[in-house]
Amino acid sequence: MSSNNSVCIYCRLRPAGNSEHVFPKGLGGQDIYMSNICDFCNNYFSGLEGELFRNSPIALMRSSENVSGYGGKKLREGALTFPEMFQYVEADNVIYEIGVVQSTRGYTRPQLIQIQGDIYAEGANQGEMTKFITAIEKWRQNCGIVVTYVSEDKPPTLGIVTFKLIDGRYISEIGTAPKVKDGISLILLQPGHEYWEAFEPRLFFSEEQRLVLRSRSKQEALKFLWRLLDGFTKDKMYIKSFSGKGTKDRLKLTMKVNVEKMQQALVKIGLNALLFYYPTSSKSPMIDPAIEYVMKGGTTSGLKMAFGTPMEMLDTGECKHLIVFTQLEGYTQVRVSLFTGGFIFEFYLDNLIISDQKSHSAILLVDYKNRRQKFYADMAEFIVDNLHLGGERSPSGF
Ligand SMILES: [Zn+2]
Repeated sequence: MSSNNSVCIYCRLRPAGNSEHVFPKGLGGQDIYMSNICDFCNNYFSGLEGELFRNSPIALMRSSENVSGYGGKKLREGALTFPEMFQYVEADNVIYEIGVVQSTRGYTRPQLIQIQGDIYAEGANQGEMTKFITAIEKWRQNCGIVVTYVSEDKPPTLGIVTFKLIDGRYISEIGTAPKVKDGISLILLQPGHEYWEAFEPRLFFSEEQRLVLRSRSKQEALKFLWRLLDGFTKDKMYIKSFSGKGTKDRLKLTMKVNVEKMQQALVKIGLNALLFYYPTSSKSPMIDPAIEYVMKGGTTSGLKMAFGTPMEMLDTGECKHLIVFTQLEGYTQVRVSLFTGGFIFEFYLDNLIISDQKSHSAILLVDYKNRRQKFYADMAEFIVDNLHLGGERSPSGF
């Protein structure tokens, strides 16, 4: 029989020949590894983390915080300049453009959008809408250029279409230009996109306050813009809101979130750190419910989970992830706080003892901008280091 050390700490079946990051690299973790994982589990965890990084609110935060992941051996950019985020309102069969502010909050981007053939205006608030319309007016008077850069073409083609007002009518001219300032960018929806069928053209205002056209084809986009400009010129266009007839609080981010996979990945992230910094816990049967949940999902008795709220003493500062271990009477809590309190997940392991002290707290701090990790075996140390109480210490604690 093989010794415990050579068996994978997760499945407890296969030989532990692989290693993985204690804290995920895709979330800005440092290259610190745990080696007691088997190939199978390592692979399986990549899949779970992939779900977390792509199909959960974490995806938005990674994107807006520009945290790189990795594909193969190459580092991959985490951010998109104009993230493609939609709110799909099934009842109306309408797809709205969504933006993100302060890493986590979604809002309706100001947009002029075609819905069932008519043009409507949507936006989070009147102030944003006014800025948007002003930008369109400015574009109309100064430039009138739509940049039809198609990066999928090989080589990429930088085309432009210029809209000119002649005798009260707009005409368009196709051309090329080496550099275009203040043009409207055209972004095409990828064929086969899940919203392809219901997708209608729209002009929206990005978080960077740039005008962006999105549609399924160049022709569709230009036709839409033409119509829009015509309406503007004739001063006849009365644009109303389509969603306004319902309630505004329908604004939700509708990413396809697999909540269970997301939670499995979050428990795994917490468990990894627990097993690494408290190696003896891997021998305790009290972690079994958590392991079972990571491996199989489903309803596992004995594992309590919750989404938490930010705490003043912990979730402040910049570019921080924290994993907090707290042992209290009868249980140990593992609290995973990502993106400086932007997303908090907790789970509880009944009767798990990680310290001889009656109550005990420790913290793993990850500075995701600098890819640095530091473990504080004592909460007090963390507080002194990170809340710089009158001292000259660096706020990041490094
Ligand atoms: Zn395994």
